[in-house]
Amino acid sequence: MDRHNFGGCLCGAVRFQTRGELREVIGCHCSQCRRQTGLYYAATDVPLERFQMLEEATLAWYRASDSARRGFCSTCGSALFWQAEGGDKISILAGAFDQPSGLTMGYHIYCDDKPDFYELPQDGLPRHPQGRP
Ligand SMILES: [Zn+2]
Ligand SMILES: [Zn+2]
Repeated sequence: MDRHNFGGCLCGAVRFQTRGELREVIGCHCSQCRRQTGLYYAATDVPLERFQMLEEATLAWYRASDSARRGFCSTCGSALFWQAEGGDKISILAGAFDQPSGLTMGYHIYCDDKPDFYELPQDGLPRHPQGRP
């Protein structure tokens, strides 16, 4: 039987559902993710055919670069999604999922761009200096 996960923003105006297994969570320590999240980005992803938006009246998108956009709630400010231009998957911030999510951490990327005010978690997971090799 397929697993179903639900999630949404802090105020509850954006809600979504995923079906099936979710990819392991990747931590991104790049400067864009730092500014958007206040710390670092931790997200899973899922093919679009297994993703459904349930409530999206306040969902807004910020085009962070030529190649990707970032989705957030325009009422409460929660960072929610990342999507590559023309991509067939959507990246979803792990913290947006209702608990228990069943998610597990996988590895860290852009570790060389980590800011000075925190240390990488001592979780024994792979750390990549830039993107996934
Ligand atoms: Zn909200
Ligand atoms: Zn990043």
